[in-house]
Amino acid sequence: ASPPPPATVDLRELGKTGLKLSSVGFGASPLGSVFGPVSEDEAIATVREAFRLGINFFDTSPYYGGTLSEKMLGKALKAVGKPRNEYIVSTKCGRYIEGFDFSAERVTKSIDESLERLQLDYVDILQCHDIEFGSLDQIVNETIPALLKLKESGKIRFIGITGLPLWIFTYVLDRVPPGSVDVILSYCHYSINDTTLEDLLPYLMNKGVGIISASPLAMGLLTERGPPEWHPAPPELKAACQEATAFCKRKGKNISKLALQYSLSNKAISSVLVGMNAVRQVEENVVAVLELETSGIDQETLSEVEVILKPVKNQTWPSGIQQT
Ligand code: NAD
Repeated sequence: ASPPPPATVDLRELGKTGLKLSSVGFGASPLGSVFGPVSEDEAIATVREAFRLGINFFDTSPYYGGTLSEKMLGKALKAVGKPRNEYIVSTKCGRYIEGFDFSAERVTKSIDESLERLQLDYVDILQCHDIEFGSLDQIVNETIPALLKLKESGKIRFIGITGLPLWIFTYVLDRVPPGSVDVILSYCHYSINDTTLEDLLPYLMNKGVGIISASPLAMGLLTERGPPEWHPAPPELKAACQEATAFCKRKGKNISKLALQYSLSNKAISSVLVGMNAVRQVEENVVAVLELETSGIDQETLSEVEVILKPVKNQTWPSGIQQT
């Protein structure tokens, strides 16, 4: 007889941090109303449902919704009232609605502001947000040393860096003392249409760095609702994703489920962050995780979608000030 299905989402080790993250993580940027308005009640109900189904990892940033995401997440965490050691919160520094500032002074002040909005005493991970928009040498020489001091003070437990181009990670990790950067967060590079993160995984694992991959739905490209108006993808990528979505719909399949399962299939990735702003989405995403564990991915539909997306495979968009 086959074993009973797991009741909740599986946990995965994050590099050498000792943290065990739910394989699907809660991306809280939608709580900042960046994909459409979200009420406080909806935010609380969504976070409550995430906890109920075994999601223990919540990611936000002062940038999302101009601090609204952090405030909403803080209210929701407080309303749900779980013990602090039963969940993991990551937020970010250096990117704000007013612009970028990775100076030691700004990021040191930033964590106090974030903790206040989140109504927490510490965050588990503080990440430099979208470092390709700053000077990477400043990140190495000034920002990371400032975050190491915050680590000593107990306001943060671990340090991360995030961004879109993949070369930024090796640039920084090759230059900082081993063990100072605990985590990287990559986005839009491990989904059905773009798998370029794959080549970097051996390097990251060799460094002992924890790997978080965000935006398995390519920031809305692989959803029936479609991407938000600000989505930076080139028109041919948007069109191909729309075609793949329509194809799945005609077949009675849900592209978002397939896309999430695809990202979750690589166990080198500790957590796949999906943006969620509705109870129904949490439920759908958790069902996708549990089904992947029990029955595997729908290989036939995946192959068909891969054919549709082949002409735009690994297409991305420019980000930051230092292109290579
Ligand atoms: P995503 O690919 O997760 O897509 C989110 C969109 O998909 C939202 O509109 C959401 O409502 C919708 N969605 C979620 N579940 C769905 C489902 N089951 N069916 C249909 N639609 C569904 O993109 P994202 O939100 O940009 O990324 C996830 C999270 O990762 C963010 O919230 C953020 O926490 C993190 N992230 C970080 C960075 C960075 O640090 N630079 C960049 C991107 C994302």
